[in-house]
Amino acid sequence: MPHLLEMKHITKAFGDIKAVDSISLTLDAGQVLSLCGENGSGKSTLMKVLCGIYPYGQYQGDILFSGDVIQAKNIRDTEQKGIAIIHQELALVKEMTVLENIFLGSERGRFGIMDYDSMFLRCQRLLQQVKLAVSPDTKVGELGLGQQQLVEIAKALNKQVRLLVLDEPTASLTESETEILLNIIRDLQSHDIACIYISHKLNEVKAISDLICVIRDGKHIGTRRASEMNEDDIIAMMVGR
Ligand code: ADP
Ligand code: MG
Repeated sequence: MPHLLEMKHITKAFGDIKAVDSISLTLDAGQVLSLCGENGSGKSTLMKVLCGIYPYGQYQGDILFSGDVIQAKNIRDTEQKGIAIIHQELALVKEMTVLENIFLGSERGRFGIMDYDSMFLRCQRLLQQVKLAVSPDTKVGELGLGQQQLVEIAKALNKQVRLLVLDEPTASLTESETEILLNIIRDLQSHDIACIYISHKLNEVKAISDLICVIRDGKHIGTRRASEMNEDDIIAMMVGR
């Protein structure tokens, strides 16, 4: 069985600066890997390479997904393969409803293969899955930030995601919203969906991860089992003491 994800010697430079410097990592289905590193260490850049935001040709190294090489031209290519990213800055359209946002840009919505009633039902099921008790008709702008984050996840699930990347998802969430999010990640994990999680909150990282990968100045410092590291170990690797 090939790994779900293999990133091999990924390097991404901006001018003279190597934001990501030959980083390799491996992830299997249902695993949660946290990326830890100080601000500017290259976490987001590495994930933007993975998700096709920086397309093939704009980085060095190889990406394999389920054993197949991916050379994405854009984020749509990676979404089709089952990779979704949720950024800290949410990308929902506030004036549109939850349903419209979830089906926005999806094949189903665009080509009208599904009628409205089926979309509504599917939307309700997705909202149940992320434990968000709002109607698909609700305008996204009326929801709290944590709830919007859950809509983003529901949207990713609608695309049959196999790997969900969360880049600092809890930065603006309350404690109870964070707890809901962590529980959803556990639930996804039990459905064999893998997750790459980026957070500065090491208690969350410890609670959710199977693996912790530490990067510093664009370089891979080490990947360990979360059970083998405490918060001080992570910090020491992050800052290089
Ligand atoms: P992190 O997510 O770990 O905080 P980033 O991946 O955002 O780090 O940034 C890594 C490094 O690359 C930083 O030095 C940052 O200034 C630089 N960088 C990131 N994006 C760009 C960009 N679009 N243009 C130029 N430099 C960038
Ligand atoms: Mg970042």
